[in-house]
Amino acid sequence: MIRYALRCEESHEFEAWFSSSSDYDMQVERGLVECPHCGSTAITKQIMAPSVRTARKVEARTEAAANGARNFEELAKKVQAHIRSNYDYVGSNFAREARAIHEGEKPERLIYGETTPEEREKLAEDEVPVAPLPEPFAPTPPKKAN
Ligand SMILES: [Zn+2]
Repeated sequence: MIRYALRCEESHEFEAWFSSSSDYDMQVERGLVECPHCGSTAITKQIMAPSVRTARKVEARTEAAANGARNFEELAKKVQAHIRSNYDYVGSNFAREARAIHEGEKPERLIYGETTPEEREKLAEDEVPVAPLPEPFAPTPPKKAN
């Protein structure tokens, strides 16, 4: 089966399936292919120029990605700043602090810090809700940890 993008004499665009290109030729010749919009049987294959479309699409995507990157960088900086001003840095005590807060031993507060992979696993096992900060969002730790 081949799907063709077609166009009638009124420039209506539609698609239709054919078993082969000769099947398409035969059906169009006999007027068996009708425009679903106006019933015209003066049908031609759409000039698709896929390479042009693809190129344009790729271009658009690249541009979007570039914009995205710029916004992403800004976003990352904002997140970093937000964390720095709203979260307490607890350094390597993170796992202990997170657990203490989770278990109600310590008042709720926002913290960030480092864990070892083992600690992280343990926290996950105990369902302590912590999330790793992906690289661009992770603020560099303040010089003086408490
Ligand atoms: Zn038409």
